[in-house]
Amino acid sequence: MATPWRTAPLPADWATDIRPPILERDGHQCTWTRADGTRCTETTQLEVDHLGDPDDHRPHMLRTLCRHHHRRRTAIQANEAQGPRPSRARPAEQHPGLRRLDRPPF
Ligand SMILES: [Zn+2]
Repeated sequence: MATPWRTAPLPADWATDIRPPILERDGHQCTWTRADGTRCTETTQLEVDHLGDPDDHRPHMLRTLCRHHHRRRTAIQANEAQGPRPSRARPAEQHPGLRRLDRPPF
């Protein structure tokens, strides 16, 4: 299974041959689509995100994201990798005035 953490270094031609065409293709704009269908308008601090395996650098597996959305996306991946966490919430305690008395209080 692919790990969301970057375990392998980026290839030597990442910055020169792989990354630039992706930014060009995406119009040097973040490709994040909001829930309402509008696209993020960020055109600075752009990073190239891997859609699948971190070592899969094929163009259709890469997309442009602004730093903010790249972080968000990485956080989502990390959450998915961890799976559901046990609830740390304590069981709800009933208000003492609402507690049903099973035994007489004396
Ligand atoms: Zn964005």
